[in-house]
Amino acid sequence: MIDVLSFLPGKRKQTSSGWVSFNAPCCIHRGDTQDKRQRGGIKPSADGSWSYHCFNCGYTASFVLGRTLTFKARKLLEWMNVPQEEIERMNLESLKQKSIESLLGERQEVVQRLQSIEFEDKDLPAETRELTESAEEYLRGRCIPLDYPFLYKTMPRRGIVIPFTHNNQVVGHTTRFLDDRTPRYIQDIQHGYVFGTDLQKNNWQSVIVVEGVFDALSINGLAVLHAEINDAQVRLIRSLGRDVIVVPDQDEAGMKLVDRAVELGWAVSIPEWPAGVKDVNDAVIRLGRLGALITIMQAKETSKIKIELRKKQLVKRLRT
Ligand SMILES: [Zn+2]
Repeated sequence: MIDVLSFLPGKRKQTSSGWVSFNAPCCIHRGDTQDKRQRGGIKPSADGSWSYHCFNCGYTASFVLGRTLTFKARKLLEWMNVPQEEIERMNLESLKQKSIESLLGERQEVVQRLQSIEFEDKDLPAETRELTESAEEYLRGRCIPLDYPFLYKTMPRRGIVIPFTHNNQVVGHTTRFLDDRTPRYIQDIQHGYVFGTDLQKNNWQSVIVVEGVFDALSINGLAVLHAEINDAQVRLIRSLGRDVIVVPDQDEAGMKLVDRAVELGWAVSIPEWPAGVKDVNDAVIRLGRLGALITIMQAKETSKIKIELRKKQLVKRLRT
C-alpha cells in the first residue's frame, strides 16, 4: 500500500468532504506566489489512489492504483520533496497491483477501451473552491447527482466548474455561469473529446449520446458538447462497443444531430415530452431519471424511415 499522505507537510487539515489540504507546493513552480492558505488538496481513496487539485493555481494531478504514474503526478511528488527512489517505488508498487485490479475492477473493461484513445492532461481554472450552498442548490434543482467532482469559482463571474475527465484524468473543463449573462458556458475542450465515458459501467449494453454536459450527468450518458459529432468523437464512442442511442435537443440545431446519427447508422430517440421539455435534463427534472429513461427507450428508432418521420413530426411541433 502506498500512502501518499505520509509525504504531506505536518501542517494540514481535513475537510468533511474528504480533502486533505495543505500549502500547495505547485504554485511557485508555475509563476504564481507561494500558497500560504493551504489551498492544495489531496483526496485519497481507500485503495491508495488519489487526486490532487490546487485551488490557487489550478494544477491537477491524479494517481490510479494499477497504472503508471503520470507526468503531472511525478512533478507534484517532486515538488512535495518526495525522494526520486520513493517515486519509482510507488510506480512499481502500482504496476504490481495491475493484475489484482483486473480481477476485481468492475470498470476494467471500460478502462482498457478508453486507454486506446489519449488526451493531454489539463489544469483546471485557478482560484476555485468547493461548491457553495447555493451552487449545490442549483445542481439539485437540475437533478444533477452531487457526487461528481464539481468546483466553484467567483472570478470573473460566479460559476460551477465541471472537470472533463477521460480515464479519470482531467483533460479539460467547462464552466456553467450562474448569473443570467451570456455566454452561459465557457469550455476548454480537446478535439475529439466526449464527456461522460467515466460514467459508463462494464455491464451496460447501450449508451445514450446527448448534446449537453448536464444532460449527460443527469442520466449517465455521453455528451458530444455541441450539435454535431466529429469523426474523432465517433471513433471514441465506437470504441466503447455499445449500442448507441442519440437523443437530440428538441430544437432546430438538434435536428443536425439526427441527420448525423442516421448517417452513422445509430439509433435515435425523439420522445414526445410534455410541453416546455426540450432536452434530456429538462425531461429528468419533469419526469424523474427513470421516467425520462423510459420515454427515451420507448421512442428509440433504428429504421431510417421511422427516424425521418419522427424528425418531421418534431419539426412540425416546433413550428406550431
Ligand atoms: Zn498551485
